[in-house]
Amino acid sequence: MHCVQLREIAQPLVDRDVPRRDPGPMEATIRIEAAGVCRSDLHYRSGVSFAGPLPLTLGHENSGVVESLGANAMSQAQELGVEVGGRVAVHYLISCGSCRFCIAGREQFCAHGAMIGKHVHGGFAEFLNVPVRNLVPIPEGVPSEWAAVMMCSTATAVHALHKAGLTAGERVAVYGVGGLGMSAVQLALAMGALEVYAIDRDSDRLARASRFGAVAVQAQDRDPVQAVRELSGGGVDVAVELLGHPETIDAAIRSLGPLGRAAIAGIAEHPVPVNTYRDVVGREACIVGVSDHTRAEVVYVLELAARGKLSFDEVITSRVPLEAAAVNRVLDGLAEFAPGVRAVVAPGASPTSLL
Ligand SMILES: [Zn+2]
Ligand SMILES: [Zn+2]
Repeated sequence: MHCVQLREIAQPLVDRDVPRRDPGPMEATIRIEAAGVCRSDLHYRSGVSFAGPLPLTLGHENSGVVESLGANAMSQAQELGVEVGGRVAVHYLISCGSCRFCIAGREQFCAHGAMIGKHVHGGFAEFLNVPVRNLVPIPEGVPSEWAAVMMCSTATAVHALHKAGLTAGERVAVYGVGGLGMSAVQLALAMGALEVYAIDRDSDRLARASRFGAVAVQAQDRDPVQAVRELSGGGVDVAVELLGHPETIDAAIRSLGPLGRAAIAGIAEHPVPVNTYRDVVGREACIVGVSDHTRAEVVYVLELAARGKLSFDEVITSRVPLEAAAVNRVLDGLAEFAPGVRAVVAPGASPTSLL
């Protein structure tokens, strides 16, 4: 089968043809319909955050059709509503299911965990073998490519809002409206936020965010913190930082009102100084980290999409074939912060740019 692999750090991904493997006893083989290309893939290619084995097939945002089930997987598949021929989304965190974190429903801290597309082969391939317990049936009416991109950005965005303790009627600031931010805007509104401020420098992304109901704040023209504090009447209840820039982490914290919570999902490599008296102590504010998401949150976001609360028509901006050159071009575009939000690899599909 064809796949697109990382063979060497800091080198372009390459095309490979590898033998197809039968599913293990508790695995399923998925025929990939869509695999999202993520900024993380860029970091794996460059080696910034990669500790996996090489060569490795990347792709952690996957959906497709169940091709076959392993010898002992039938009863678990039935319990989860997974069947041969059915469409499924793939939760990318493989966990043991029995350590204290897994039992507590915090499987992202599993001591024996592995990530599909980072530690084990991912979905830039025609077929993918994964544990059946990582599969979630895609509700009717939800396109497979939507389900794919929801597996990373949307699930992590909902985890950020859960960690921030968002409740109905609150005001939310979303710093960065790329893939994660576009989901965070829609999710916050679906979860009952009164008003959501989308902060970005890219006018096209801001226009998309406003069409989802956000109040756009152009960070190029004005101090976004001042703008958010004015618009919200003294600071927001929840600020979500999704870019991993020290300046936006700082801005998210300074945007908070009394009892505000800043959820930090972006990965910054530099320390961020915080004026604890002004921004944390005096406001009884809270700064909380966001690491991945749980299977339950994957189920939740798919259900929201099925109920029309989330749309990815404006988020998926290009489709590319399963070819290394095409995937490398998408990653190069991400490196240069080119326009567009999300690209998906669609094996067999002819390439379309929706820009
Ligand atoms: Zn991702
Ligand atoms: Zn575990």
